[in-house]
Amino acid sequence: MPYDDAAPETGKPSEIVVFWTLRDSQCSQCKSDLPSGRFLILEARQPLCLACADLDHLVYLPRGDAALTRRARKHSSLSAVVVRFSRSRKRYERQGILVQEGALARAEQECLSDEGLRASRREREEQRRRDYDEKLVELMAGKIRDLFPGCPRSEAHRIAEHTAVRGSGRVGRSAAGRSLDEDALRLAVIASVRHAHTNYDELLMEGMDRASAREEVWEKIEQLLKDWEKR
Ligand SMILES: [Zn+2]
Repeated sequence: MPYDDAAPETGKPSEIVVFWTLRDSQCSQCKSDLPSGRFLILEARQPLCLACADLDHLVYLPRGDAALTRRARKHSSLSAVVVRFSRSRKRYERQGILVQEGALARAEQECLSDEGLRASRREREEQRRRDYDEKLVELMAGKIRDLFPGCPRSEAHRIAEHTAVRGSGRVGRSAAGRSLDEDALRLAVIASVRHAHTNYDELLMEGMDRASAREEVWEKIEQLLKDWEKR
């Protein structure tokens, strides 16, 4: 059992550890397949996908650029370390970190004098763009604005983009169709508001469990959604 072996040495006790899986697994909550190579966390030794762990809004930054890593982590109110078990060395090794997209962008800005970095950023952006279908994003953004006319256009687009990327990981037209479902969109908006308009990420970072943290920020979310529902 790769997960039952000695826990990785990760320094800070409060650090959130994300595992890069080496074998096929399944999320213990939503039951989605987690093929090897995916990220998951362990809660009570049970695998949990990043969506269920409320970490799927974070972006992956591979190790290799110490300055960028340090700055991205500094700007991110929620971050996690990604580890993978090395079979040859028989220990967990750090692969990179997960940080908020805005924090990474800001860190990259700060490091922009480095030309090589500019290239790697372009690459990452292109990869991200390939990952979703722009038409689906437009459709979803429109539907979000039907549900929440007060939601700023750019924010609706960002939420749709994120949801489309997530849907594409689960593959296929049925997933795309499902992601246009009203309930699915409402959930996507709630998840986004939770991360973008409340201190939810900070609460998780402080070690609060998800249920308590969600309760703590719920009122604020409800109020904002009410405002957005108005024309
Ligand atoms: Zn899950």
